[in-house]
Amino acid sequence: MDGVETVDVVVIGGGIVGLIAAKTLVEDGLDTVLIEEHEEIGIPEHCAGLFNLQNLERLGISSLGRYIENRVEGAYFYSPSGRTIHIDAGKHVAVVASRVNLDRYLAEEFEDKGGRLILGSRVLEVMSTSDNLVKVKTNNGYQVSAEKVIDAEGMSSTILRRVLKKSTERNMWIPIIQLWIRDHGLDPRYVYIYFEEYLPEFFAYVIPIDEYLGKLGVASRNDLKSKLNKFLKERFPRVDIVKRASHAVYTGRPLWIDPRSNFIPVGDAAGHVKASTGGGVIMGGLIANYTAKIIASELLGEPIKRSYIKEINHLLRELDRIAKVTKFLRSLPINLLDNLFKMINDGSLLREISKSADMDLQFTSLSRIFINPKNLLRMVFKLLT
Ligand SMILES: Cc1cc2nc3c(=O)[nH]c(=O)nc-3n(C[C@H](O)[C@H](O)[C@H](O)COP(=O)(O)OP(=O)(O)OC[C@H]3O[C@@H](n4cnc5c(N)ncnc54)[C@H](O)[C@@H]3O)c2cc1C
Repeated sequence: MDGVETVDVVVIGGGIVGLIAAKTLVEDGLDTVLIEEHEEIGIPEHCAGLFNLQNLERLGISSLGRYIENRVEGAYFYSPSGRTIHIDAGKHVAVVASRVNLDRYLAEEFEDKGGRLILGSRVLEVMSTSDNLVKVKTNNGYQVSAEKVIDAEGMSSTILRRVLKKSTERNMWIPIIQLWIRDHGLDPRYVYIYFEEYLPEFFAYVIPIDEYLGKLGVASRNDLKSKLNKFLKERFPRVDIVKRASHAVYTGRPLWIDPRSNFIPVGDAAGHVKASTGGGVIMGGLIANYTAKIIASELLGEPIKRSYIKEINHLLRELDRIAKVTKFLRSLPINLLDNLFKMINDGSLLREISKSADMDLQFTSLSRIFINPKNLLRMVFKLLT
């Protein structure tokens, strides 16, 4: 070799998905370096931090940590014509987390377990070497070789495009502004989802942190600022704006990955995001977690559990189906969306949704509910009355 240090795995990007992968790798005993371009983990924060409580725990992240800001029991959905659906599980089903604090917590765990965090360095080049390693070079001269590289660089996916000549569907990223607001006047036990006629591509939301503070998001490909102002003026004319962040949410199909190759994209970089909500932490995190476990088995010379590969394929299939259904639903005329609200607004159906629907495995859990003949009949009846 050329004197460059060699480690087991390099993770590019210290967002939440990179951190989850890196933490799993060190826990499994691998020498892991994580490279993040910002000087600090967690900043800039561009996430509402709403996670299904059980699935967060499935990722090995406690729902009782200091990063938790709120716990919610359900949601209110508002249709363009003012219909309302209220889903109430009667118990905590989701948590609201501060992404800055959660990412910092994961970074501390990674370092405490022996992982190496390199901040303020941007990966510029990733190349294969003659001895079957992958060499990573940063903008400030740092170089490292590894058996494997996990690419968790997020939306930009510059490295991914260069290395694999692939990318997410670029036109399926929708610009979003998230505000931290004060005095929303909403019940903090629920989250609030607004389908507006002037926001056909994505819903607007308010996720309360407590009875005063909350996170409000509006996404649109065109005139985002004026649409945000319209939403604020019509729905929340009296709130104070505490903080603001701009980013984009992914609403397209996921990239399929080969977890046994030596360069593996995960998280937003690979579109491992629910197209319906733009949520990528749980699904992206789970795929990254299984990917890290497969890498650990491979590098430690242990047999790879078939269940890890099956889980990744299952999650990717789920994301793909969510993307297809979402694309179809978003193509419906607005009056059909209203009819959908009318059909679903049935006490017993809503109880079943609040009991059995999974915020993350949406396709599987909702199709089970909606394809049930009894429920189909109920919905048709609702539509006709
Ligand atoms: C407004 C908003 C609200 C959201 N709300 C939710 C929510 O409530 N629940 C949910 O599950 N999801 C939500 N999401 C989505 C969620 O935030 C993302 O899916 C998640 O952050 C993806 O994590 P990641 O690690 O893949 O990417 P990122 O968090 O984007 O992290 C990528 C990191 O890589 C770094 N990086 C990039 N290139 C390089 C390089 N070449 N070298 C070194 N470092 C590099 C970046 O600086 C960044 O820190 C929301 C997104 C937005 C925009």
